[in-house]
Amino acid sequence: MKLSDVLDSKGWETVVTHENVTATEAVKLMCDKHVGAVVITNAKGQVGGILTERDFLRRYAEHGNKLGDLKISWLMTHDVETATPDASVDEVLNIMTNKRFRHMPVVRGGKLVGIVSIGDLVKAMLQEKLQEAKSLREYITS
Ligand code: AMP
Repeated sequence: MKLSDVLDSKGWETVVTHENVTATEAVKLMCDKHVGAVVITNAKGQVGGILTERDFLRRYAEHGNKLGDLKISWLMTHDVETATPDASVDEVLNIMTNKRFRHMPVVRGGKLVGIVSIGDLVKAMLQEKLQEAKSLREYITS
């Protein structure tokens, strides 16, 4: 199973912002869109950073109440790992587990086209395994 299969089922839309917004604005965006991560892109749609719930927690410990006014360029992870739609779910789950993050922006031709979370991938994999088990049961009992 590829990331494109997961995105066909969950949707290709992404929640993006730019690096000059404040932490408060980014939190509002994430709450409005019900997502745990926002991708920071430039005018060409290229990925320049990622900011997740975990970053806010860690940065709050550092900056306390001053966090809300800080620009997200100070808070985000700049060195973002991305995958292509052709990457396999197994391969991406391995990267996420080894590198200890839960979000993977999906890029085609250098531009952001989607994002998957570890939850999306585990859900897709579980559905695939359940379908396989059902097919095997039907084959055995037919
Ligand atoms: P997460 O588990 O996704 O909430 O992220 C944990 C940490 O890894 C945070 O500092 C994120 O900014 C960072 N992070 C999340 N996704 C990625 C990614 N695809 N590439 C690099 N860093 C990431």
